[in-house]
Amino acid sequence: MNGISILMYHQVGDFRRVKAHRAVFCHQRRFAAQMALLKRLRCSVLTMDQVLACVAGDLAVPPRAVAITFDDGYRNFYDTALPQLQRHGFPATVYVVAALVGRTAAWLPADGLAAAPLMDAAHLRAIRRAGIQVGSHAMNHLPLAGLAADRLATELAGSRAALEDLLGEPVRHLCYPYGSHDLAAVEAAARAGYASGVTCQRGLATRAFDPLALPRKAISLGDDLLGFWWKVGFKHRPKGVAVSRPLSLEGGVIHR
Ligand SMILES: [Zn+2]
Repeated sequence: MNGISILMYHQVGDFRRVKAHRAVFCHQRRFAAQMALLKRLRCSVLTMDQVLACVAGDLAVPPRAVAITFDDGYRNFYDTALPQLQRHGFPATVYVVAALVGRTAAWLPADGLAAAPLMDAAHLRAIRRAGIQVGSHAMNHLPLAGLAADRLATELAGSRAALEDLLGEPVRHLCYPYGSHDLAAVEAAARAGYASGVTCQRGLATRAFDPLALPRKAISLGDDLLGFWWKVGFKHRPKGVAVSRPLSLEGGVIHR
């Protein structure tokens, strides 16, 4: 089964000296080389709308299919990653923490990291005009697994409504903070109206996955170009068990 390699980035910048949590940083020179490699090897870089169509079986998976995602909505996406994406004409999706637009990533100091600035409303409108898709990274960057139903609704439906209000367009794509999700969170995401959801489970996204629990590949500070291409590689199989809503058959059509 053909799959899509959904790449996961967080911060892109001049981060050579980072010692801990290296999976959430990418050096800007490496990022530029990675994007150039995707171009040189003629990868098909998809939007999350196209990923969704592939996973639903409405669109054939093109050869060397990749999607590029950025978690948290850092200001350095705007300053550093966006120009490289634009240089190659690549689409990407940025997952924004709805209650922290224009503020800082307040959860990072607990992990011993600097509270990096996040994009504000003007940045988000500007990246939309540049063709970047904006998705939700929930309301407050909380782990969603095990959360009570009312908190789940605030985090998922609330963040979607806030971002739609800010952008004036539908927000259909979700990224679970810390990748934390369980069946209740996935079902709450469906009720909140999301069409896709990405996790931190490592693997290729295929039709075997629930579209609201798609795996990704984390690109880390330590990945040189060979390591990057090995991770992008289209043969990885997922590790662990993916969360999936039960299938039901209604009128001869399979529904989640
Ligand atoms: Zn995050």
